[in-house]
Amino acid sequence: MAEALSIVFGLIVGSFLNVVIHRLPLKQDIVFRPSHCPRCQAAIPFYLNVPVLSYLVLLGRCRSCRAPISPRYPLVEALTAFSFWLAHNTYGLGLHAVAAAVFLCLLITLAFIDLQHMILPDELTLGGAALFFAYSFFHPEIATMDAVLSGIGAALFFAGLFYFYLKVRRIEGLGFGDVKMVLLLGLFLGLHRLAVAVMLASLSGVLVGLYFILCKKKDLKLALPFGPFLSLGAYAALFWGDALLAWVSSLWGLP
Ligand SMILES: [Zn+2]
Repeated sequence: MAEALSIVFGLIVGSFLNVVIHRLPLKQDIVFRPSHCPRCQAAIPFYLNVPVLSYLVLLGRCRSCRAPISPRYPLVEALTAFSFWLAHNTYGLGLHAVAAAVFLCLLITLAFIDLQHMILPDELTLGGAALFFAYSFFHPEIATMDAVLSGIGAALFFAGLFYFYLKVRRIEGLGFGDVKMVLLLGLFLGLHRLAVAVMLASLSGVLVGLYFILCKKKDLKLALPFGPFLSLGAYAALFWGDALLAWVSSLWGLP
């Protein structure tokens, strides 16, 4: 029963995340403006605003103007539902499960905004960092000092990379949003999981970059947003980082 509820709750929250993803970068009101089609402005009645199902019923098109609805909508809803189910399955019910769910919501929202607009809004990165700094005093798995030093250390390291690219190579290899995002990640993940997150992010970023350069014939100056990779790495590190580290150290332990 609690599992089904976590999925339903995740679908509803995912539908709200879609609103944030669409409106926050455009500086539109998130809370008070009712749902509407971005092209024809037609209001979307509540019975056509059901997560995932409405998209399927409407065959992915606006009922009024037939404009295609981005598949991002059902994707974010399903992903949030899965994340809530996973958080509940891993941490049960309680404060830490809620904190993990909030963290996952931030990862999903940041990834999709960065994919579309190449920005990571301060409201989410710095707002999330403030929230998880406060939570670091209650975190059951990570000591407060670990959380704070990991966040600040990672932010300084990324800021160093940012200025290195800017001054030495005269390109913006990273956005400054990435610096603020690793601060947020460190505060919830702690040093070990953060290291796994950054390694997975870099590895997946390089693989996807190579794919675009080799298969899609893009040039080497191709700019990929790093936020989605950081999200992916942090997501995996939260749930499987400890197991991955244990496996890697067991490999090194071999004669
Ligand atoms: Zn429309």
